[in-house]
Amino acid sequence: APRLFSGMQPSAASLHLGNYAGALLQWREMQATHDAVFCVVDLHAITVPQDPAELRERTRRTAAQYIAAGIDPEHSTLFVQSHVPAHAQLAWVLNTITGYGEASRMTQFKDKSARGGLDVASVGLFTYPILQAADILLYDAVVVPVGEDQRQHIELTRDLATRFNSRFGDTLVVPEVRILKETAKIYDLQNPGSKMSKSGESPAGILWMLDDDTALAKKIKSAVTDSEGVVRYDPIEKPGVSNLLSILAIVTRRSVAEVEAEFDGLQYGALKSAVAEAVVEELRPIRERTLELLDDPAELDRLLAINADRASAIADATLARVYDAVGFLPRA
Ligand code: ATP
Ligand code: MG
Repeated sequence: APRLFSGMQPSAASLHLGNYAGALLQWREMQATHDAVFCVVDLHAITVPQDPAELRERTRRTAAQYIAAGIDPEHSTLFVQSHVPAHAQLAWVLNTITGYGEASRMTQFKDKSARGGLDVASVGLFTYPILQAADILLYDAVVVPVGEDQRQHIELTRDLATRFNSRFGDTLVVPEVRILKETAKIYDLQNPGSKMSKSGESPAGILWMLDDDTALAKKIKSAVTDSEGVVRYDPIEKPGVSNLLSILAIVTRRSVAEVEAEFDGLQYGALKSAVAEAVVEELRPIRERTLELLDDPAELDRLLAINADRASAIADATLARVYDAVGFLPRA
């Protein structure tokens, strides 16, 4: 089966509905037809300041949320990035073949550094896409399913793999970008012009997968809409209503057109109630399962260790090819 790699940062106390719709739901399906490797990318998370105790807890939680959402750690490989040192090692080598200008064109860095300014943004945040390239290339992944926000980084990964191969001989597998359905992109409920994000600023705009039923329903019912009063999918003119339609379509496994037709002529209140009910029903069993898994951290850590061994076996072999190709003296 084709190798697939994807990951998420343990950068918040929980994953959110955007991560679920844009990643987990599709990972769950794809693991049946792919040799799937899923990573909790804690090395990426420290590109912005993290509290150490919190980071540890969030890493476990993220792993538990993967499993609770249906990633099977016996069938797929589900591991923590810092457990496999080859990620940092390959990233260094790739750093040396990346142009400074090329790295400067990455828009995520521009977005994420805009807030605090360039003296606050770390060099790690700047080279984030290069570490991401290492993640993918270590596993000879051919399929990298990500949201639209990650397209530029996967293009960079392809460029780096191609450049490495032409400079040092055929060593790395050039992956294909698999952008997950555009309707799988979820926006902030309070600020539907920006994507729902773990590092987002509006507490009421983010639907955390660990929120209880009441909190989820409350946030959905106070979602920003518009004054037109007509339910219609139009992401440019009606971002709030369109986001609600997308959410409902995703969690009920229907098309946006189908959901739009169902609410034709109805009020925003009816749409919000339906969204709230569907989201609550979808997330409740996942939340409950996550909390169960977190009740036995020793068992979870044991699973992650076994999976890290499987991941290392693949990653170390790739790193050895790379070290040999660049001309590092083998350790006798
Ligand atoms: P951060 O704000 O820390 O970057 P994030 O919410 O963007 O967090 P990531 O860990 O960067 O989450 O991304 C994990 C995966 O979730 C990626 O595949 C990304 O494309 C997807 N994703 C993130 N946010 C959304 C969203 N709002 N809608 C759909 N997919 C999303
Ligand atoms: Mg992100």
